[in-house]
Amino acid sequence: MNIVQPAMPPLPPDLIEKFRAIVGEKYVVTDAADIAPYLTEERNLFHGRSPLVLRPGSTAEVSAICKLATEHKIALVPQGGNTGLVGGQTPHNGEVVVSLRRLDKIRDVDPESNTMTCEAGVVLQVAQQKASEVDRLFPLSLGAEGSCTIGGNLSTNAGGTGALAYGVAREMALGLEVVLADGRVLNVLSKLKKDNTGYDLHNLFIGAEGTLGIITAATLKLFPRPRAVETAYVGLQSPAAALKLLSISRNEAAGALTSFELLADIAVDFSIRHGIDIRDPLTSKHPWYVLMELSSSRNDARDTLEAILAQAMEEGIVDDAVIAANLSQRQAFWKLRDEMSGAQKPEGGSIKHDISVPVAAVPAFIEEANAAVVKLIPGSRPVPFGHLGDGNIHYNVSQPVGGNAADFLARWHDVNAVVFEIVLRMGGSISAEHGIGVLKREELPDVKDKVAIELMRSIKTMLDPLGIMNPGKVL
Ligand code: FAD
Repeated sequence: MNIVQPAMPPLPPDLIEKFRAIVGEKYVVTDAADIAPYLTEERNLFHGRSPLVLRPGSTAEVSAICKLATEHKIALVPQGGNTGLVGGQTPHNGEVVVSLRRLDKIRDVDPESNTMTCEAGVVLQVAQQKASEVDRLFPLSLGAEGSCTIGGNLSTNAGGTGALAYGVAREMALGLEVVLADGRVLNVLSKLKKDNTGYDLHNLFIGAEGTLGIITAATLKLFPRPRAVETAYVGLQSPAAALKLLSISRNEAAGALTSFELLADIAVDFSIRHGIDIRDPLTSKHPWYVLMELSSSRNDARDTLEAILAQAMEEGIVDDAVIAANLSQRQAFWKLRDEMSGAQKPEGGSIKHDISVPVAAVPAFIEEANAAVVKLIPGSRPVPFGHLGDGNIHYNVSQPVGGNAADFLARWHDVNAVVFEIVLRMGGSISAEHGIGVLKREELPDVKDKVAIELMRSIKTMLDPLGIMNPGKVL
């Protein structure tokens, strides 16, 4: 997808030298082949262009870059792991890319205070590992955790599979260090849970997708590391049955219920067909599946999980279920889930939505959306799956078998229109976790409160009067 935006003026010839003086020769990327990986993303959906990638190694260098960019009115696109799904990290119009990946230090780990201060370029999996080394849990977890970064996670306010119990990225950050467009460094890094001294500034930058400033570090919350984790894979008849199972699970396990994923049979079939070394955990087929996990600081998770499943079977809610016998089986269950997005690629064009509705409305949403989408494009194949416990469904639609991918993808906005109408009518959101970027930018003014949009524009103008911070994204 090429995004059309007003042309950027070319970089003044001496400016690259000035940037070179800030970050050093080695960390200025000007060769087209070396720049290429920063211009596209995993799904190959967005393609950008840029004359320059800068790879600063410290907050001071990021600050000097922003100051210089302001002086010369040069637009910047912050980039972390480049795993974003809405085109926010792509320089669509010749902007300079600022890659934060070299800011990869963990500045402080404090198990007593349950905090960890990471630089923005720390890879999520590294942060998780560091926490576990001091017997703590950093619970943010998503399919891209091997390459996405803490700065990107906070800038997109990532969700993931742990959000049910621990909240989204925003709820895991106590404070931030942010470089503003003019180069000033806002230091609201804090280990404090309680600090009522004025406006909640750090939260402005979380979910801002790099449009208000560049996050350079964050103080994150740590949690006790569970002693027992138990995972079940469940076959059932409908999303309504899954909702009933969720209700029983919450009643019985309360905060110990850490994941509850709903999977349509077609999503499971795609994963098994196209994933590497993925097997069906159950011997029988079912229209819907749930992948659920309980985590406990005591060794009672298995008993609780067995009791939940026994009750659900007795009430006719669950048809079949298997509990992972060991770690490798548990990992195999999750692999089936994690490969779900990628497994749609070999099935041709896929129109993707990342929506949320109130949890109780999920079954009605899926039923209505399936009917509307198939009516709009006969033969199209809805592939819904996702975080039922958060009311967040990745409502993807694969092209008809044997159809033309380009023709199908040309209907993206038509499909959006019918899906979003249902979402909004049900009081939901058109972007539950991936953000707005450029993918949903045009729709935002139609779905968000008018005053909220006005305030967002005022904040953007106040913090970035020249519009150099990730221009054309979100607003
Ligand atoms: P990037 O992609 O580099 O950037 C994303 C946005 O943040 C851009 O707008 C960029 O400009 C901005 N940005 C990056 N770093 C900074 C910074 N330091 N300061 C300011 N702005 C910055 N997302 C979920 O929420 N939940 C999921 O379950 C999930 N699963 C995924 C599974 C797969 C296989 C893939 C490929 C993606 C998935 N994502 C998911 C989306 C993606 O991983 C997240 O959005 C992630 O948080 C992006 O992190 P990143 O470091 O790759 O950021």
